[in-house]
Amino acid sequence: MKNAKPTAADAASTPGHAHHAHAADHAHSHADDPHHDHAHGTPASAEAALALAEEYCRERGEKLTPIRRKVLELLLTSGRATKAYSLLDDMRQIHPGSAPPTVYRALDFLLSAGLVHKIESINAFAVCHDLTQCQHGILVVCQQCGNVTELHQPALREALVAQIENAGYRLAGDGIELKGLCSACQAAQAAGS
Ligand SMILES: [Zn+2]
Ligand SMILES: [Zn+2]
Repeated sequence: MKNAKPTAADAASTPGHAHHAHAADHAHSHADDPHHDHAHGTPASAEAALALAEEYCRERGEKLTPIRRKVLELLLTSGRATKAYSLLDDMRQIHPGSAPPTVYRALDFLLSAGLVHKIESINAFAVCHDLTQCQHGILVVCQQCGNVTELHQPALREALVAQIENAGYRLAGDGIELKGLCSACQAAQAAGS
């Protein structure tokens, strides 16, 4: 599966991508609302993210079709890693006839565009925390609830990749994924024990 975003070199050769460079040292999380549900429509932040994604696709000469946009929107409003079958259920609430391939094809596109991450450890999908980030960060994935935090630490990432190459390996994909337990789930676990 092709899962790579344009490299820094690609970005440098494309003037339109220049503004995608951003601060090196930050982490985003959408961990703030563990009880979020789908009943409140699309939050303004999701609308802004969708507009950004649309622009990003246009610059790449690709189209964020209504179905791709809807799948991305579902992932944005979910705010955490979500299983494909759950996305399909959500799609069927909106378009009752939605077939699995429709959703999988949309996910494939979003993955290849780099707008979405496949979260291997829990077999789910999550929106990239910076929709126009040219290099993915290091993902920390709550194994309990699917919260995903993306650490943008290029120096750390490069050091890790260098060590991996020193050991004679290369990464099989562009994702580095760490298994974790988020603070909300740690608290729930502490309260339950
Ligand atoms: Zn990312
Ligand atoms: Zn959690």
